Amino acid sequence: MSRVNVLGVDFDAYTQSEFIQIFMNRLSQHQGSFVVTANPEIVMYAKEHRDYAQILAEADFVTADGIGVVTGAQMLNTPLPERVTGFDTMTALLAQANQAHLTVALIGAKQTVNDQAVANVTKQYPNLTVVYAHDGYFGLDDQAVSDAVIAAQPDMIFAALGFPKQEQFLLALKPHLPQAFMMGVGGSFDVLAG
Ligand code: UDP
Repeated sequence: MSRVNVLGVDFDAYTQSEFIQIFMNRLSQHQGSFVVTANPEIVMYAKEHRDYAQILAEADFVTADGIGVVTGAQMLNTPLPERVTGFDTMTALLAQANQAHLTVALIGAKQTVNDQAVANVTKQYPNLTVVYAHDGYFGLDDQAVSDAVIAAQPDMIFAALGFPKQEQFLLALKPHLPQAFMMGVGGSFDVLAG
């Protein structure tokens, strides 16, 4: 695996389509993936917060979600192929997962936004099943949402809770759902609901 270090964060040097292929292969082999899409804000945050840096170290994949990261890698003479955003990766993966008839959990954003995102995903990807959905306004010490996700056994989990909350939430779930793909997607549900 080819990794590029930018300011202490190890990024995986793949194009978006390579990432999608890898994630789909792992899903078909029941192998989980915890993915962080790291923008410059996240890189700087990780420098100051060891616990978040540890989350990045535990991620199976870290994508360069920002042209600043791609430029930084280029300046270090260790180029990354392209910017890979959470939103683009999520929609590309939803399209592939639709063809494979997979299941998904959509957790995050305000209740009305979450409802609309679920409705749009269901309409646009009719072969996908949304097995669990919840708004993002719950405390991480409240086990109810995690318990419900675990019970639903989704193939994929997208968490739109903003960082660092979404990564903290997903990392805690990881040992309970070792076959699942999971990724924090920031404000993407607002766009999906659009
Ligand atoms: N959000 C949430 N729960 C929270 C805080 C935020 O569900 O406790 C949602 C918010 O409604 C928005 C998304 O998280 O849909 C993150 O938005 P933002 O663009 O601030 O996150 P970023 O992409 O910068 O990480």
